[in-house]
Amino acid sequence: MPDSIHKKTKNTWGIQRAKTTYGIAGWGNRYFDINDQGEVVAKVNQEGKAQSVSLMEIVQGMQDRELQMPVLLRIENILDQSICDINETFKKVIEKEKYQNIFRGVYPIKVNQQAQIVEEIAHFGKQYNHGFEVGSKPEMIAALASIESFDSLIICNGYKDQEFIELGLQAIKLGCQCFFVIETLTELPIIIERSKAMGIQPYIGVRVKMTSAVSGHWNSTSGDRSVFGLTASQLIQVVDTLKACDMLDRLQLLHCHLGSQIPSIGDIRGGVVEACRYYTDLSKEGAPLGYIDLGGGLAVDYTGAQSSSGQSRNYSLQEYCEDIVDTIKTTLSKEQLQHPVIITESGRATVAYTSILLFNILDVSQYEITEIPPAKVGEHELIQNMREILSYLKPQRVQECYNDAHFYRKEILELFKRGQIDLRMRAVAERLYLSILQKINGVLQTMCRIPAELKGLSESLADIYYGNFSLFQSLPDSWAIDQLFPIMPIHRLAEQPTRHAVLADITCDCDGKIERFIADHDYDATLPLHALKEGEEYYLGVFLVGAYQETLGDLHNLFGDTNVVSVRLNENSSFEFVKEVHGDTIADVLSYVEFEPKQMQSSFRNKVESAVRSGRISAKERQEIINTFNGSMQGYTYYERELLSVSDEVKQNKAKQDASAIFTEDKDIEGKALPKSAVAKYI
Ligand SMILES: *Cc1c(COP(=O)(O)O)cnc(C)c1O
Repeated sequence: MPDSIHKKTKNTWGIQRAKTTYGIAGWGNRYFDINDQGEVVAKVNQEGKAQSVSLMEIVQGMQDRELQMPVLLRIENILDQSICDINETFKKVIEKEKYQNIFRGVYPIKVNQQAQIVEEIAHFGKQYNHGFEVGSKPEMIAALASIESFDSLIICNGYKDQEFIELGLQAIKLGCQCFFVIETLTELPIIIERSKAMGIQPYIGVRVKMTSAVSGHWNSTSGDRSVFGLTASQLIQVVDTLKACDMLDRLQLLHCHLGSQIPSIGDIRGGVVEACRYYTDLSKEGAPLGYIDLGGGLAVDYTGAQSSSGQSRNYSLQEYCEDIVDTIKTTLSKEQLQHPVIITESGRATVAYTSILLFNILDVSQYEITEIPPAKVGEHELIQNMREILSYLKPQRVQECYNDAHFYRKEILELFKRGQIDLRMRAVAERLYLSILQKINGVLQTMCRIPAELKGLSESLADIYYGNFSLFQSLPDSWAIDQLFPIMPIHRLAEQPTRHAVLADITCDCDGKIERFIADHDYDATLPLHALKEGEEYYLGVFLVGAYQETLGDLHNLFGDTNVVSVRLNENSSFEFVKEVHGDTIADVLSYVEFEPKQMQSSFRNKVESAVRSGRISAKERQEIINTFNGSMQGYTYYERELLSVSDEVKQNKAKQDASAIFTEDKDIEGKALPKSAVAKYI
């Protein structure tokens, strides 16, 4: 990190700068902010009163309860507020536009199936008759068990077998409005046969295949290539079949789903126009439609850029509702059709904001050499040559200096291999090389045009911060589809961050790192962070992780589910822990991969016992060994350490390690240079 950048900005750092640096106003959607103490706060609006709580206070509460990091923090009121926002906004727009029907939201369970989420949606959503969209039998069962109002809808998508259909018909018998959305022609005869046999009138919908193509990251399967939905001729077949059984009056709903995370409002409007065309013609065919279901797609602005790029959106919730209501109203009024109930199946936008992944930093490796090792008499000529470079380093010769440094380093490595330079000399050369790169980087910052080959230099000199989490378990989309999530420190924000870093997780997989971060209207290869303070934890939060992350995660390196904590913010800005779920123990994850912990314990015990028999250990030692093993089995899979005080000034006075001394391997700046054994010795 070049000094020049610090100097320019040193005097102007403040909370406002922190807000723009991490873009919190953009992606925070009014739920997150930074307080005057430099801590991230979560905010909700309850009955017109804004409540806010610092995430650090919540972290302190976790410490008091001895809950170890990483933790998935859920803030229940944020979920409530999302449901309230979508229902209230549609309601207001409908009133304003004098639309002649109502809005009914449903939550697609697949987006986050956790019981706590589903139950809270059912509970809070009751006042709005917010229902569920289900795509499988287990989701159907979850919906039936959770739903609190039978005026809410249950929309059944996906492939439905007889059992699925019977469940739905029983629900209808109970008074629930449960729609079967026909996705393939095979399910229609089962619905007809079962409903006749059981004497229950089904609610039927049809899912149409949309041809409107949608831009964005998630939508390569939208349009004609979609695997879902009925073609025009299949729709006609459904109509004819229902007519023949005298059941066309049961066809009441038209369903379409353009895709998830639709960044552009133009695409949404285009989709609604197409849906209305189907709606009109199916009505003309005699189907007494009364519901139009537009599926999901309402995007989350992960970058806060308000743009039509894939990880953002170029519209507000208000605009989304206005465009839908207005398009349906104008299109169908022209056809003299009555306005249908509008249904949307927003998943991502409903649950993304509620969850935050919190973790601590275990260690840092820095590629920064503060002092150039002093010259020694009799130093090898190549090392002397390397030292020389600094004497001719200036903008005009920056590429040449870089080439020279590279060349001498290579030569020195060769000599080391042949035994002509010893390890100590090699270490000196390494430090010299790095300090030269740093100086070169400093010079580059003063130049308007940076030579192409040197463009990535600043990133490759960035620190690596090792975070106590598994990307594969907690942020699978970050790995699988390069999804960006807002990431930032949740404290110390009144203080200027002086480091630029990439993040690595604690799996030993070189894909377990994050090297793209949200920055001003774009993304950046590094994240500004604070230097670690000795004996004090440094906490980062990954925000907007409530949608699609929680059950996609895998057991890479057998890191399991994290601890989960749900809090509810109260009036007067206090909060309570409403639920805590302990993450997987080591025994849990082992049993997921078919080990049997009990059997493992007994086979280990036998080994230890035979060591006693052979006289290698005493019976007392035997017990210690067994206790350690069994204790571990019940432990957390992540890095556990003595809990440190969050805010108190540190009382520990262990000697601070020179972080650069870690730097002993053959250097590979691009890769993960640090062996994991070095992790976490910083504190
Ligand atoms: C996945 C899915 C949704 C949810 O989409 P979001 O973009 O997350 O709101 C809604 N409906 C159907 C049919 C889906 O498959």
